[in-house]
Amino acid sequence: MQTVRKVVILGGGTSGWIAAALLKKVLGATIDIVLVESDSIGTIGVGEATIPPIRLLNSVLGINEAEFLRETKATIKLAIKFDNWRVPGEGYFHTFGAPGKSLAFCQFHHLWKRARQLGDTTSLWEYDLNYLCARDGKFAPITAKDTILELPYAFHFDAGLYAQYLRKLSEQWGVQRIEGLVNDVMQHPNGDIKNLVLDGGREVSGDLFIDCSGFRGLLIQQKLGAGYDDWSHWLPCDRAVAVPSERFDKTLPYTRAIAHSAGWQWRIPLQHRNGNGLVYSSSHYTEQQAADLLLGNLDSKALADPKFIQFKTGRRRKQWHRNVVSVGLSSGFLEPLESTSIHLIQSAVVRLLQLFPHQGIVSSQVAEYNRQSQLEFEQIRDFIILHYHVNQRTDSQFWRDMQQMTVPDSLQRKIQIFAANGSLFREQNDLFLESSWLQVMMGQGIMPKDYHPIANSFTEQKLKEMLAQFRAIKQQPLSKLPSHDEFLQKVCAQ
Ligand SMILES: Cc1cc2nc3c(=O)[nH]c(=O)nc-3n(C[C@H](O)[C@H](O)[C@H](O)COP(=O)(O)OP(=O)(O)OC[C@H]3O[C@@H](n4cnc5c(N)ncnc54)[C@H](O)[C@@H]3O)c2cc1C
Repeated sequence: MQTVRKVVILGGGTSGWIAAALLKKVLGATIDIVLVESDSIGTIGVGEATIPPIRLLNSVLGINEAEFLRETKATIKLAIKFDNWRVPGEGYFHTFGAPGKSLAFCQFHHLWKRARQLGDTTSLWEYDLNYLCARDGKFAPITAKDTILELPYAFHFDAGLYAQYLRKLSEQWGVQRIEGLVNDVMQHPNGDIKNLVLDGGREVSGDLFIDCSGFRGLLIQQKLGAGYDDWSHWLPCDRAVAVPSERFDKTLPYTRAIAHSAGWQWRIPLQHRNGNGLVYSSSHYTEQQAADLLLGNLDSKALADPKFIQFKTGRRRKQWHRNVVSVGLSSGFLEPLESTSIHLIQSAVVRLLQLFPHQGIVSSQVAEYNRQSQLEFEQIRDFIILHYHVNQRTDSQFWRDMQQMTVPDSLQRKIQIFAANGSLFREQNDLFLESSWLQVMMGQGIMPKDYHPIANSFTEQKLKEMLAQFRAIKQQPLSKLPSHDEFLQKVCAQ
């Protein structure tokens, strides 16, 4: 067993620089980190919507939030609005918040469901502060002791600027960056990676290699052949076309995901522009049709030519293999419907830190890393499939096929249990909380047949009062909050 003192990261996209910054920040002088990247190859250059755990990453890195918002041209994200997913012309929100407040053994939606059966027509989302703020375009961080007033948020940001920002920090902390094209990789006799050979012959050796080389998976796949589990039979979209456009006058504090006849379009508001893209199935649209559909559905002027990206949904079979850990696109890809890719980078590096092989790589640790990574990818996969599978669209073959497909057992079980009586269970370490599953199940059209009997333990009058009180509490902060744009202007002027 060789001790690990020198880590070599191949790739300087979002994944390379998150890995470099986090490893260096936490492990400090105990390891040397070298990052190799090639400007001639460049980065994928999309990936702009995030989820709340990114705030934890920034906080561990000691990043000042106001500075971060300025440097990365970021805006606030409170939710995703899904349009046309259940049926054309209708939309729902998946917020980072939760409706009402749950009682012990009885989640809020059971109370709501009983009230609904008694004739109350208030939407579940009216009890969710994130929804109310997203709807009204309002935001400021809320620091309340009572969890009912939590306002969880994430960011939309320019991923290129974020990588540059992390590069600046990483280099200050001692990460060495080498600009160069890797055109060969040498192995030890046992098959482990020994060094990268750059254009011009320079060799970069290391004990542990982190493959952040993007979809090409230069080390993990091209050299070590770690394999790939293809999930495109569940998630058939295999292309994206992306284009930036001019910013809107009013900046929405949420991402939009607009379904089309064979895919969906994202709209991500940044301070200086909007990010737009269409994720689609190449069996249904040609490149030209996809580009026309995207450009025809922009709400502001395009700022560049459309850029096409090919992918295959799935995961690297062994995300850690020998002395190579794959992070980012080299480790697998799930379409950006729930903005999970940058989170998967963060969580992979945290997992590596927890199992860091200072004294040498041990097979049981590698197996544990791979087990956890597999579970995490599969749980997110199921959540994404849910959006596609539970739809009531009859306008295209694509959506009808999605309804008919056989989904993973793990998802089928969840859907059946929820449809019966509204029960939701969070699997161990599932990234998505019950409130996320609830909103998407309901938004896609599953109304549970029944509710938990605890909801019957209140008189009708008491139930009404409780719900009215929850609603009033959730609405309270609204009048005091600035608009999202006012908040950004204030922070960015500082
Ligand atoms: C269409 C689309 C939309 C997305 N939207 C989101 C989103 O909204 N939210 C989200 O969280 N994520 C999103 N993602 C994912 C996100 O973009 C990526 O997870 C993230 O950018 C990480 O990419 P990466 O660093 O792994 O790879 P890349 O950005 O491809 O970087 C690869 C790096 O490897 C280097 N490299 C490769 N080969 C060599 C070589 N031979 N020699 C030297 N250097 C080399 C390159 O120079 C580059 O620096 C999206 C992805 C796609 C495809």
